[in-house]
Amino acid sequence: MPFSDTVNWTPSHSNDLYNIDGWGAPYFSVNSNGNLTVRPHGSKTKDHQEIDLFKVVKRSSDPNHAGGLGLHLPLIIRFPDVLKNRLECLQTAFDNAVRSTGYTSHYQGVYPVKCNQDRFLVEDIVQFGSFGLESGSKPELLLAMSCMCKGSSSEPAYIICNGFKDVEYITCALFARKLSLNTVIVLEQEEELESVVEVSIKLGVRPVVGVRAKLRTKHSGHFGSTSGEKGKFGLTATQIIRVVNKLEQCGMLDCFQLLHFHIGSQIPTTSLVADGALEAGQIYCELVRLGANMKVIDVGGGLGIDYDGSKSHCSDASVGYGLEEYAMAVVQAVKFVCDRNSVKHPAICSESGRALVSHHSVLIFEAVSSSKYTVPTMSSFDIQRFVQQLPDDVRYEYDSLSQSAARGDSEACLACVDKLKQTCVEKFKDGSLDIEQLAATDGLCDFVVKEIGDSNPTSTYHVNLSVFTSVPDFWGIQQLFPVIPIHRLDECPTKRGILSDLTCDSDGKIDQFIGGESSLPLHEMEGGSGMKYYLGMFLGGAYQEALGGVHNLFGGPSVVRVSQTDGPFGFAVTRAMPGPSCSDVLRSMQHEPEIMFQTLEHRIKEYVHDDGGAVIASGIAQCFHNMPYLTVGSSCCLTAANGNNGYYCCSDEDVIAVADAVGGDDEQVSYVCA
Ligand code: PLP
Repeated sequence: MPFSDTVNWTPSHSNDLYNIDGWGAPYFSVNSNGNLTVRPHGSKTKDHQEIDLFKVVKRSSDPNHAGGLGLHLPLIIRFPDVLKNRLECLQTAFDNAVRSTGYTSHYQGVYPVKCNQDRFLVEDIVQFGSFGLESGSKPELLLAMSCMCKGSSSEPAYIICNGFKDVEYITCALFARKLSLNTVIVLEQEEELESVVEVSIKLGVRPVVGVRAKLRTKHSGHFGSTSGEKGKFGLTATQIIRVVNKLEQCGMLDCFQLLHFHIGSQIPTTSLVADGALEAGQIYCELVRLGANMKVIDVGGGLGIDYDGSKSHCSDASVGYGLEEYAMAVVQAVKFVCDRNSVKHPAICSESGRALVSHHSVLIFEAVSSSKYTVPTMSSFDIQRFVQQLPDDVRYEYDSLSQSAARGDSEACLACVDKLKQTCVEKFKDGSLDIEQLAATDGLCDFVVKEIGDSNPTSTYHVNLSVFTSVPDFWGIQQLFPVIPIHRLDECPTKRGILSDLTCDSDGKIDQFIGGESSLPLHEMEGGSGMKYYLGMFLGGAYQEALGGVHNLFGGPSVVRVSQTDGPFGFAVTRAMPGPSCSDVLRSMQHEPEIMFQTLEHRIKEYVHDDGGAVIASGIAQCFHNMPYLTVGSSCCLTAANGNNGYYCCSDEDVIAVADAVGGDDEQVSYVCA
């Protein structure tokens, strides 16, 4: 048992064990039922406004639950209220820093859509009013342009056009100016300037131009590898001077209005934030001196997230500051440099992405089984026989193990166990041990491990998830996210486990957790009781959705949007989207599900001549129709399409019918089809 007081366990023990306050406050906590709750308005949330995550999961996934939608897991639950709160907090942090330092201009936030391009998320951000959008590619620009048409801001918010650009990208950005959208073309490479000048003359549009400066300030963490003098992006001092000269020659120096830099994501300290802002501030002032019409300093992204709750700057999993300290560091640094150079304070723009959207969504997935590494325990007779039959060199390993055991040296015993196993596997491979001897070695080793007290080895929890699709940053860059059970938190977790996903890939597992742990405290799975075991991955609202691939053809999760309401449920599911079906993911790899199905139908006609043919055809059709993930708790996919699942692949009318059927009471519900 890993924890001492298992009987008097309370939700607050779980809070401490999983450090929920550390990484989750003010948005996540545990209620007295032992369920994880979401505090949708952050620190302004009243107790009755907390949303019980377990209830949301039941409502979204369980077709037998009152009003249940029968969506398949994995499930992303978005909380637009949390997003709004993050936007407000960032705006307030900068407003306060501006006010308290006597800064004479203002803050203008810009959301980098690369963080999460989800339509409803971006629309929410634009609706908020004062935030603009940043694009790094042509589709992102198109997205930003159309979304900003719906913006409610009286002062048109920026569309910052970053990234490498061709003539088409530049042309679209200039078309946007014709449409009275406030686009700024930020030169990522010096060569882009020629196209900007040419196309703007041709279209008769006055561009607003910025440059991305390649700062010397270097961020040393993983995300800083593109910063510093040798970084991939931005213009050097020499190139910036050439841009000034060229614009001056073309009579367009008044178009040069913005200086941008981005030293990397997840900046560990405010002193590094300030260093970057000081260096960029000085370049800004020099540009003013050289006659550019400077108005904005854009400090890029980098505002970090405390994924492990340690408030430390020693790893990429944490940062040692909050929104207020970040805003203060930026404003003070820019003010200091501008005052020193007697330059008017510019508008400060930040492209904070991770910090805005990480908290707004939670990924829910199920553990479907757990297995401990077990081997049959050997009777002492077996061990005797085994020892007698050992080849000499394996016998030597065995003797070392016996001697360590006699000394009571458990550490040496474990080392000998490893060595003995390794040697036996080698011998098995070269044919000098048979399979019974190999199994006997495992049995002996298991026996020894148990005897020396390591009776609770790590279990493997198989989860209905693809790590590659839903947590790509864990796989790709070992980014840690908090993962915890979302219920049973009033119960002591008596096991430790790692999470192994559905893909046939050894990398498809999560075996590193926040706090430097190589296993996670988990509850015993209640085999056969029908009780599901739900886990949540938190703070994954940025980057994971767009980075995720379709390894093994597992597509994305189902998605619901959940808002806090004052009605009887306390929340409303305002949008529900089943994840991609098997057909959808096959189509993404250029297969044609309809033709595939016809081929199989012909085959059925050829080989099955009784009524069974119809059953096979309908089973296969249903499989195309359903999500690729395991249908947990259902005997087979034939039953999965009944009841509420009927809206997985349907016409608009069907969707509305389902919405009417499950909506009821005071909840404003609209469900859309994939
Ligand atoms: N701006 C630019 C140019 C970026 O490249 C990025 C991310 O890499 C961002 C903003 C967003 O950074 P973050 O998510 O750290 O705020």
